[in-house]
Amino acid sequence: MQVWKFGGTSVGKPERMHSIRELLNSDPNRKIVVLSALSGSTNALIAIGEAVKAFDDAKAAVLLDDLKTHYSLFIKELYATPEGLQKGQEIVDTEFGYIKSLVGIKPFTTKQDKELVAEGEILSTKMFQAYLDEKGDSSVLLSALDFMRIDADGEPELATIEEKLVTILSQYSDKQTIITQGFICRNPREEVDNLKRGGSDYTASLIGGAIRADEIQIWTDIDGMHNNDPRIVKRTFPIRELTFEEAAELAYFGAKILHPSTITPAKLRSVPVRLKNTMQPEAPGTLIANQTSDREIKAIAAKDNITAIYIHSTRMLNAYGFLRRVFEVFEKYKTPVDMITTSEVSVSVTIDNSEHLEKISADLKEFADLEEHDLDQNIICIVGNFSADKEGIALKVLDALKHIPIRMISYGASEHNLSLLIHSKYKAEALNVLNERLFYYEDAMKDIFTAP
Ligand code: ADP
Ligand code: ASP
Ligand code: MG
Repeated sequence: MQVWKFGGTSVGKPERMHSIRELLNSDPNRKIVVLSALSGSTNALIAIGEAVKAFDDAKAAVLLDDLKTHYSLFIKELYATPEGLQKGQEIVDTEFGYIKSLVGIKPFTTKQDKELVAEGEILSTKMFQAYLDEKGDSSVLLSALDFMRIDADGEPELATIEEKLVTILSQYSDKQTIITQGFICRNPREEVDNLKRGGSDYTASLIGGAIRADEIQIWTDIDGMHNNDPRIVKRTFPIRELTFEEAAELAYFGAKILHPSTITPAKLRSVPVRLKNTMQPEAPGTLIANQTSDREIKAIAAKDNITAIYIHSTRMLNAYGFLRRVFEVFEKYKTPVDMITTSEVSVSVTIDNSEHLEKISADLKEFADLEEHDLDQNIICIVGNFSADKEGIALKVLDALKHIPIRMISYGASEHNLSLLIHSKYKAEALNVLNERLFYYEDAMKDIFTAP
């Protein structure tokens, strides 16, 4: 069995849903199909929630009407028969009736807010399953809320997900296509929750890992993982193969094509992940697996909104236990640290979640001196196979960035990652100069990648 996930743009127009059906039918494997909300819907639902929270019910009503109109037009083109359209209209009326009731409950709590945001995926999956029904295709819709679980820290509960999913699936062995929602789940209080923005990728790999799928395919609007951010850098090209480690680093350090945690469950069970383009299905895309060809530098990514914290202690001189105390503070506030550099008397760390920055600083000040934080920083991450015998990679990178101030460098933690911290105002320049220097400058590098 395979798991195929289609993102927002891939389901964002009626004709795209028609193409998904063709893609599904062109492949004989049984599949679990994970769908995102139609593009723009999650943002629209979040905006409705924001308006309600700001006590602007008039604005919320206008936004809600606009969104409903969008769906009413969408179904007119999605279905070909009066019966199909009627079913579609029922789905839209039911779900928007529910949304209206949700935003009417006062006070509007986080619980309602999460239920509201979940409606994007609930609508897209119901509409798509009704479309397959209209066409007479064999399919069933499973609610992700029946098996997708997170713990109190927002982390997926792998064993529970597997147990529940395997039981549910055993009832549908006659169905060719099993549809479910990406992104949404339940938390330990049994409330509706989610896997954070872009979380449908994560759903797909959690399912793929749980059922030990033959392959997980992430269908999106680009022909695979590119060597650099195509939104910022002019010439980029798709990478044919990545290892799990390389792909995980790129996703974690900002390659938006994958939710940061996507690779973990797939890697755990060695399920290959293939990135494919819905608009160009014939393109080979990117295969992420255990093995890959032995290339040096594969790709560059950038992670935004980073805060750097500089910690000093003269008592660190010859002291043990200092780093433990530092990291206990971050642990206390459940704040992951991305980059670390140390000298004899100081430690610099970066975080991307600065929600608890003030409390973290106060706790650190109890035993260390802090220099002023640097806000609005960017981690530039270069990913590839940098085994110890590969010479000159750091030189190439630093030479390319010689005109850009670098605050931190991290190299050697893994053989796949060289990270640098710069101010975000230099991000576009850094990505572009690295792109030219690492992928286009040397002819020797060119022919080992897909021709750009
Ligand atoms: P979906 O809605 O299908 O989940 P996303 O918008 O989340 O799609 O992810 C696809 C987008 O990721 C692409 O359109 C592209 O602009 C962006 N992206 C950023 N970095 C990369 C990269 N290194 N390779 C490919 N795409 C990238
Ligand atoms: N719809 C959700 C979002 O926009 C999840 C996803 O698309 O992956 O973040
Ligand atoms: Mg996405």
